[in-house]
Amino acid sequence: MILPRLFYKDQFIRRIKIMDIQSKCVQAGYEPKNGEPRVLPLYQSTTYVYDTPEQLANLFDLSEAGHIYTRISNPTVCAFEDKINALEGGVGALACSSGLAAETLAILNVCNAGDNIVSLSTVYGGTFNLFNVTLRKYGINTTFVPSSATREDLLAAIDDNTKILFCETVANPSMHIVDLEMISSVAKEKGVLLFVDNTLATPLVCKPIEFGANIVIHSTSKYIDGHACCVGGIIVDAGNFDFKGNPRYKELNVPDESYHGLVYTDCAPASFITKARVQMMRDLGCCMSPFNAYLTNMGAETLHLRMAKHGENAMACARMLANHPKVEWVKFNGLDGDENYNKARKYFREGYNSGMVVFGVKGGLEEANAFMNALEFAKIVTHIADARTSVIHPATTTHRQLSPEQLVACGISDNLIRLSVGIECSADIIRDLEQALDKVN
Ligand code: PLP
Repeated sequence: MILPRLFYKDQFIRRIKIMDIQSKCVQAGYEPKNGEPRVLPLYQSTTYVYDTPEQLANLFDLSEAGHIYTRISNPTVCAFEDKINALEGGVGALACSSGLAAETLAILNVCNAGDNIVSLSTVYGGTFNLFNVTLRKYGINTTFVPSSATREDLLAAIDDNTKILFCETVANPSMHIVDLEMISSVAKEKGVLLFVDNTLATPLVCKPIEFGANIVIHSTSKYIDGHACCVGGIIVDAGNFDFKGNPRYKELNVPDESYHGLVYTDCAPASFITKARVQMMRDLGCCMSPFNAYLTNMGAETLHLRMAKHGENAMACARMLANHPKVEWVKFNGLDGDENYNKARKYFREGYNSGMVVFGVKGGLEEANAFMNALEFAKIVTHIADARTSVIHPATTTHRQLSPEQLVACGISDNLIRLSVGIECSADIIRDLEQALDKVN
């Protein structure tokens, strides 16, 4: 039986086998034993059977490993969690019903009313709203800092109530690449947790834990699923933050009365993810369904192949766009001369890039719309990072709720098109972009 990656008091965390990341995509998380199915089974069950009440009581005590109820853990979901955990190099992961659910749960795992988050302003629009509106209603404030913030700016933004420093590896949609070493050194100096949303990079392109991230979050709805069929999210705990005796993170080092006195630091190094699962997921209930885990896990088995092709196609599109007379500017970190090129080469796996290309059609909203309307092969969808090429106009859709000032802070202009380059034949994608640009006046 596949069990949740928790630190069961005296038990040992299962060690991830040494294998290349490409093999981990295919095989990590599920190791069938003699006579068991080759393919990860779908355990479509809410409940689990035990012979004695004492045995079930031991599970509630975390003194024995096993599944209690699918809201807390499920074998199919755990196998998927283990795969992503292995890819990111963490000590444990927790799958959630969406990327935003994963962010919310991870934040509430350490933040209370009166605490604050320091975040780069170049984050996904939904994240921006969560931070700027919803969390504020519950007394958790966010200080936004521009993506150009220096080390000193970041140090100055962090105060005694800051619990989290938050950023995206590749920002959606500004394409800003965070200087992971710089930001993690700030988090370390101040003793705060660094959360990195690695959705647009994926562990195939960048592994933030290697550069000092403490918590990695994904919207698995994007590249990890890769087929646009399951909304989901995941939290990976690097296990590299010492919560013991730390007054900033009391929730982890004093007895949790809601869990009969459990002290999460006794579960170190998996303290954060153990609390996230047994307390926050128990109470918030935003779990990933076994069926979504089954499908997303299957998608993840080809993540290495897809990311290579996404990056290759994106490079071909970016090169064409950069030389097109109807295009004002292009942002793609694989292009030599792009403002993020050097950071991409420093932090990205050699030969890999995200498949996102952002560009400005010459003119404004009208020209951007004319381009979008003329597309035939690429489709207009509220989604990115799946196998099919798609486009969106963020200013009027995903970021519509933002004020003009906030749009500027997020790096979004009226003529900005976000192109999510798929894994079709690059010639077909380019032909479509060219014919649509030809129709712009
Ligand atoms: N993080 C990033 C970078 C995203 O692009 C998105 C969605 O587009 C999310 C988080 C939210 O994920 P979900 O849509 O799965 O809730």
